[in-house]
Amino acid sequence: MDFALTPYQQRLQRQCLALAADFATRAAAHDRDASHPAENYARLRDEGFLALTVGGEWGGGGGSLLDHTIAYEALAQGCPSTALAFNMHASVVMPLLESPEVAADVKRRLAELVVRDKALIAGNFSEPVTTSLIGERPLKTRARRVAEGYRISGRKMFASMLEAADYVLVMAYPDEAISPAAGIILLLPRDAEGRRVDANWDVLGMRATRSDSLILDDCLLPESARLYRTDDMRPFRHAYLNWFWGSYTPVYLGVAQAAFDELRRVVTERRPEGYAQPLSHHPDVRRHVAELSADLDGARLATYRSAWLSDTQGPTAETTAALYRAKYMVGETVSRVTRTALTLGGAHGIFKTSRLEQLFRDGALGPLHPPPSDFCLYNMGLYQLGLEPGDVLPPLKPG
Ligand SMILES: Cc1cc2nc3c(=O)[nH]c(=O)nc-3n(C[C@H](O)[C@H](O)[C@H](O)COP(=O)(O)OP(=O)(O)OC[C@H]3O[C@@H](n4cnc5c(N)ncnc54)[C@H](O)[C@@H]3O)c2cc1C
Repeated sequence: MDFALTPYQQRLQRQCLALAADFATRAAAHDRDASHPAENYARLRDEGFLALTVGGEWGGGGGSLLDHTIAYEALAQGCPSTALAFNMHASVVMPLLESPEVAADVKRRLAELVVRDKALIAGNFSEPVTTSLIGERPLKTRARRVAEGYRISGRKMFASMLEAADYVLVMAYPDEAISPAAGIILLLPRDAEGRRVDANWDVLGMRATRSDSLILDDCLLPESARLYRTDDMRPFRHAYLNWFWGSYTPVYLGVAQAAFDELRRVVTERRPEGYAQPLSHHPDVRRHVAELSADLDGARLATYRSAWLSDTQGPTAETTAALYRAKYMVGETVSRVTRTALTLGGAHGIFKTSRLEQLFRDGALGPLHPPPSDFCLYNMGLYQLGLEPGDVLPPLKPG
């Protein structure tokens, strides 16, 4: 067993920590204004991050999910919103490039868009009705086949970096389909006719992701916008959950690491009046820091291992369970680390100018960002007990 990062991973980590240090100088302003960190996206674009994990055969960097994990953990330590939103690009592009079900010419066009044209692509699969509570994803947005291509209508929700990206990949229900699990993924340029944005992202944390709502009103797209269509989206979603959401688990891990580092800085620098030692020497502070370090290390090992399993085994049951376990552990860890850091920072740490305050709000989204902790546990339980999802009762009475 080898836990060492390769020389490439060490260089990538250093590069991302340097970018993070720059992003950190603007993170508070973007958080306050809930503004797009467009200059951070431009730097990531310039430094090759759009194609970091795109296969070498298309001219991409050929990075693995583990490489991506190491990179996004580091990037998130500077500006969590930048890392979370920018990751949406890889999270939707990679499944399409990797799936054998996607046509070769579609993959080539998509790879060219990313590698040659350096297009930033957002992903918007979610809708106001989306929920993990029932383990299904009903789609209300409809795509109607017309002579020129497709007309799409509906309201999507939570589209990170929507107005900063060049395109957004939208999932809709094909109008002619009969299976409830059918879906179509369409590539929508920013200037598509019939597309508008409801800028309603005024939220607690990850504010600079600007995950606004997308309104499609008979939006016209050419035939070439269709990237993938299936009568059952579930196998595709399942096979690529490593990218769809496993790719942002390290973002919340980075938030936890940043809060841990900030906490150590605060307690090391703050010396109560009349005492010779700073707060770091207090036994209760030391104990809290020790506990958090154990949580953080466990969550990191689980996350790296889940990515490594995904890279080496593909979407096996073991990989899937490991990805859910990592997301669960990171969600709980980021909550605990940011909460304890805020508590130990005391009233000095609750000002809007405090880094701990922002990390506390960003970290609060960790356990609820899908898959939420409860849904992770649900899936881990099935795996540990060797149960088939179809053999357990539906969680809610169908209506
Ligand atoms: C910061 C952020 C950025 C996002 N960016 C994007 C994006 O770019 N594109 C996109 O398409 N979507 C995005 N999303 C949306 C996301 O992927 C989900 O679709 C959306 O969050 C679902 O809504 P919900 O959290 O209310 O769902 P729900 O699944 O209804 O969860 C609500 C709560 O119910 C409980 N729960 C859920 N499932 C279960 C279960 N099985 N058992 C027990 N309890 C359960 C949990 O406590 C959970 O927190 C983003 C979300 C966030 C938070």
